[in-house]
Amino acid sequence: MKHDERFLDGIGQEIKEILYGYLRAESITGSRAERDAEQYFTGFFRNQPYWQQHPDQVGSFPIPGDPYDRSAAFAMVRGTGSNANDTIVFVHHNDVVTTEDYKRLRSLAFSPDELEQGLLQIKDTLPEDIRTDLESGRYVFGRGACDMKGGASIQMALLFRYGRLLLDNPAALTGTLIVMAVPDEENLSAGMRAGAILLAQLKQKYNLNYRLMINTEPQFGNAGENGMFSIGSAGKMMPFFHVRGVPAHAGDPFEGINSLGIISELVRRTELNSDFSDVVMGELSPAPTWLCLKDRKLQYDVSLPVTSVGYLSVITFSQTPDTILEKLRVICRETMDTVLEQINRQYTAYRFKNGLPPKELFWKGNVMTFGELYQEALRLHGELFRNGYAARLQELKKELEEDRITLSDCNFALVDYIYDFIDDLSPRIVYGLIPPYYPNVCNVFLPDLSEDVRTLPDKLIRFAADLWSQRYDTEYFYPGISDLSYTSISRGGDILQALENSMPLFGHMYDIPVREIESISMPCINIGPRGKDVHKIGERVLKEDLYERIPTLTQYAVEQILP
Ligand SMILES: [Zn+2]
Repeated sequence: MKHDERFLDGIGQEIKEILYGYLRAESITGSRAERDAEQYFTGFFRNQPYWQQHPDQVGSFPIPGDPYDRSAAFAMVRGTGSNANDTIVFVHHNDVVTTEDYKRLRSLAFSPDELEQGLLQIKDTLPEDIRTDLESGRYVFGRGACDMKGGASIQMALLFRYGRLLLDNPAALTGTLIVMAVPDEENLSAGMRAGAILLAQLKQKYNLNYRLMINTEPQFGNAGENGMFSIGSAGKMMPFFHVRGVPAHAGDPFEGINSLGIISELVRRTELNSDFSDVVMGELSPAPTWLCLKDRKLQYDVSLPVTSVGYLSVITFSQTPDTILEKLRVICRETMDTVLEQINRQYTAYRFKNGLPPKELFWKGNVMTFGELYQEALRLHGELFRNGYAARLQELKKELEEDRITLSDCNFALVDYIYDFIDDLSPRIVYGLIPPYYPNVCNVFLPDLSEDVRTLPDKLIRFAADLWSQRYDTEYFYPGISDLSYTSISRGGDILQALENSMPLFGHMYDIPVREIESISMPCINIGPRGKDVHKIGERVLKEDLYERIPTLTQYAVEQILP
């Protein structure tokens, strides 16, 4: 569209009103209240004249099988001209994390003005940084103000203005704009995974050509006073291990194998192991770390724990499930060999102390993926196993829906179940992946990146420098995990196959619409307001960015891609 200086006049006040209303939908992640945010979003657009004329351009798509009946919602404006189908998608999540942090101010967490007063009253108990920012009046405080209903309100105010503009002048915009609002980002991103299906449907219905996805997640952490654009988002995988030893009485431990010994060696070899970190264009992904480790004993007894399980979080910039699984195979094999060798060494030393000659224990250890274990049971027991497994899956699914079991315990319960059909009881490590899986995305990976999108970050950097003398930089990966992970995928077939072989819950209790993501595949950028202390009592977003700079930069980006 042609640049109009007055387009943004007074938008700050509108953003504020939208934000305050959006915050009042107390949409804590993993709850039914997320639907209040969805209703606020669709209700806002349905009340505007543009959408009253185009009622099919606002709506929602239910998340398949969602226990809370949540949906991905969208609103859209359509311009005219030969490039009317060129489309920019804005995306935001409208769930927020819990408010326990606010303690006695908890009831004020969703009301910025009242919260500010409350925080001022207890300012002497707060860190200095928060106190200074409170007194400066430069920030909006509140749960979700920064992460990310602030950014969401910028998107909504901009779309509202484009709608109003198009009512007067249908030629004012040469393309299509969509704002998509999704729940569950702070949890498993069920909203964005359904959102990819919604976008694939809209693409088909309107013959859209997706040019760019813009997210407005906050910039925090190392961004400091400078601004930051991200042209990608880190990925995440959670490898799991299910280790089976050999039972024995604790009084005679060399008779068996303690599963804890094996899983400890796995931890030792993988915890913070930078072989799992990727370097892309000089940026290094965080080191992996374990999030859970436990045995499967239900009560105390004097036998060795036969089964131990655990999983770790791996943040990726370029690796895919198949490359990670290959690394895991090598590590599991080395672990098994090392532990068995160690046991033999200890056994020899033990016998020596006892005045006995050395003697070797001939344990044979197995290492396999979840899919290989499944196939072994199927070979041995055929239909009997297949039917039993399907029934067990249904039981677990029900328990999950009723909140009686966690997703990771479902995963391990399925592996346990398969062992009932395995005859060879020598020690084993079974490995695979548990949900969630976030693909890594970055514009530099895209084969046919268009010139206007490739040069957009530099243009934005110059624009911000000229207008406010503010410095911006570009990073390849948004450091927090974000919904942008589901904007593009490459080698979808390989990824599907790897997930099917390694993730017990895939296709049953967890899905990634790989084919739809492939069909909507588009580059992305994050242009978000600066803020601090997300997920904490001091959560706040910088007013200057929220009300002025990010709307201006975003409008500028739209003009570059839809000229
Ligand atoms: Zn966020």
